[in-house]
Amino acid sequence: MNLTDIGTIKELLGAQGFSFSKGLGQNFLINPSVCPKMADLCGADQSTGVLEIGPGVGVLTRELAARAKRVTAVEIDARLLPVLEKTLGEFDNVSVINADILKTDIADLIKKQFSDCEKVCVCANLPYYITSPIIMALLEGRLPIDGITVMVQKEVAQRMCAPVGSRESGAVTVAVRYYSEPEMLFEVSRGSFMPAPNVDSAVLRLNIRKTPAVQVHSEEFFFKFVKAAFGQRRKTLVNSVGNGLGISKDTVTSAVSECGLSPTVRAEALTMEQLGAVSDKIYSAIR
Ligand code: SAM
Repeated sequence: MNLTDIGTIKELLGAQGFSFSKGLGQNFLINPSVCPKMADLCGADQSTGVLEIGPGVGVLTRELAARAKRVTAVEIDARLLPVLEKTLGEFDNVSVINADILKTDIADLIKKQFSDCEKVCVCANLPYYITSPIIMALLEGRLPIDGITVMVQKEVAQRMCAPVGSRESGAVTVAVRYYSEPEMLFEVSRGSFMPAPNVDSAVLRLNIRKTPAVQVHSEEFFFKFVKAAFGQRRKTLVNSVGNGLGISKDTVTSAVSECGLSPTVRAEALTMEQLGAVSDKIYSAIR
């Protein structure tokens, strides 16, 4: 069964009276080289459990099932379930769960689905409208997973893989680097999908760190600080953090200078360690 063949996809979906939902980010892969490459690069082998988010018609799921011990795919759109029954019927190591991934207890799912697997990874062509919330849920959940290999909008991938301390960095860059080591794998043009989206895509891999990239006094405060610091990109760190967190500018200025930084420095110029150090100084001053 060739699930990148447009005729085959139309026939399968047509039999269910299916129409693509833009709101659910339904752009299905029709480029035959992409899924085998993703499945190879996600590192799944016969001892791995793979969580896929949004299987669509099962084009990536089939590649994962051929390599992994077990695959569990979470799909929100119930209309795709009869299609997936047909396209995945030949595999006895695949389960499809009809659910919204953002409302799913992923830790519990992993425990129940992959108890007999030595390692677990995530591999998915993500729906673009919720890329960041899904990735953050996977990272913040401190799940027992080795890596996350996902296709996202190219610009989002670039931002996630940018070095902290570069012009391209943002709050999401810091969050991703805090929990993982990101790696850009390959780009995928918009013509690789049906229907074609208005943007190009890229596949990246987030290798989960055993311990966070920087040790901070309060993780909760650190992320509030980072969000405020990058919230007003053109402003200095002192102004954006002062305004964003409602803290006096004197307090922020003292913290910045105690860390040996200029009072006019911007968030994008700071390394992970410097962000952690300033956050800790402010946290100690306001507690
Ligand atoms: N994996 C398929 C492929 O590569 O062709 C489909 C990818 S398509 C970009 C995204 C898929 O995610 C769709 O099947 C869509 O229905 C599903 N989806 C959208 N929102 C979801 C959510 N909140 N939870 C689970 N699946 C979701």
